[in-house]
Amino acid sequence: MSEQHHNSSPTELVDRFGRKVEYVRLSVTDRCDFRCVYCMAEEMQFLPRNEVLSLEEIYLVSRAFVELGVNKLRLTGGEPLVRKGILQLVEQLGELPTELLITTNGSQLPRMAHDLKRFGVDRLNISLDSLQSEKFRRLTRTGKLDQVLAGIDAALDAGFERIKLNAVVLKGRNDDEVVDLVEFARGKGIDITFIEEMPLGSITEHDRAEAYCSSDEILAMLSQQYEMIASTEKTGGPSRYYRMADSQSRVGFISPHSHNFCSECNRVRMTVEGRLLLCLGNEHSMDLRQVMREHPGDIELLKQHLIQAMDLKPEQHHFDLNEDEPQIVRFMNMTGG
Ligand code: SAM
Ligand code: SF4
Repeated sequence: MSEQHHNSSPTELVDRFGRKVEYVRLSVTDRCDFRCVYCMAEEMQFLPRNEVLSLEEIYLVSRAFVELGVNKLRLTGGEPLVRKGILQLVEQLGELPTELLITTNGSQLPRMAHDLKRFGVDRLNISLDSLQSEKFRRLTRTGKLDQVLAGIDAALDAGFERIKLNAVVLKGRNDDEVVDLVEFARGKGIDITFIEEMPLGSITEHDRAEAYCSSDEILAMLSQQYEMIASTEKTGGPSRYYRMADSQSRVGFISPHSHNFCSECNRVRMTVEGRLLLCLGNEHSMDLRQVMREHPGDIELLKQHLIQAMDLKPEQHHFDLNEDEPQIVRFMNMTGG
């Protein structure tokens, strides 16, 4: 047990295993203009409005976290940029003494990138799984590749540095595009991270075990084309990075199956309903919405709950692609990837 728990008024978030929580991912909506096959079912039932945190509630939780030492906030979803009033929230969060990041599918960036930059967003992660429009449409069901490519250009034009692409690779669907995606990132001078698919939510489109493409397989494909140099750099997340001798772009891998990263976990997540999730792969959680609705605006009480919640953070996650039922029934859009 850490020193924290003997202190009467802790000012930091430290769990039972001594891990300091400094990074919070906030899901600001469960809605999305895409229906990516690994993330959502084709027909989704979205939450009624009163069950979703208001923008004021999201801001209050963010302030509480920052006052407890969190130095990195990421807005995600669903698609964070389709939430009504999102720019107003971003403007407020941009004033807090913390790094502010957004993970987006890119579709709204052509009209929003400049405002996001102006309001203090530090970095963008943009999801891109394919560079072929027909395949992109099949993977996202409703997405338009042109719009996302225009979004990436708008983000570059707005002056964002260290933009990172995220690609989920599925065998038989887009694993043939791994080199093309890296070429694209190199051409734009941006980074790219490959993510192993995680078993969140029940999907029917493909068999997750059959579609599983490990980070090591992707690295092997890339090594045939480039000299991949392992790097010790960290960006405060679970990515392992590689560099290529002839490019500034970095290639990252997030490998929840093949490389367990739990021991270094410094993050928690908040769902769109205000449930604080202590681990992506476990159901341990605390209902912050209830606290905020019973005691509106009481930031000290909220902070006490956040401190207490640290005791619920489990040591590690267990994902198994071969189980018939997903262990975690939430969809990724609820938790914010
Ligand atoms: N809509 C935004 C986007 O697509 O970037 C933000 C939310 S999305 C849930 C965040 C990230 O999670 C995306 O990069 C997406 O590809 C990834 N993701 C979604 N479902 C996943 C799954 N089952 N396994 C692994 N990554 C997943
Ligand atoms: Fe929407 Fe992002 Fe999920 Fe795709 S991965 S359906 S863009 S939330």
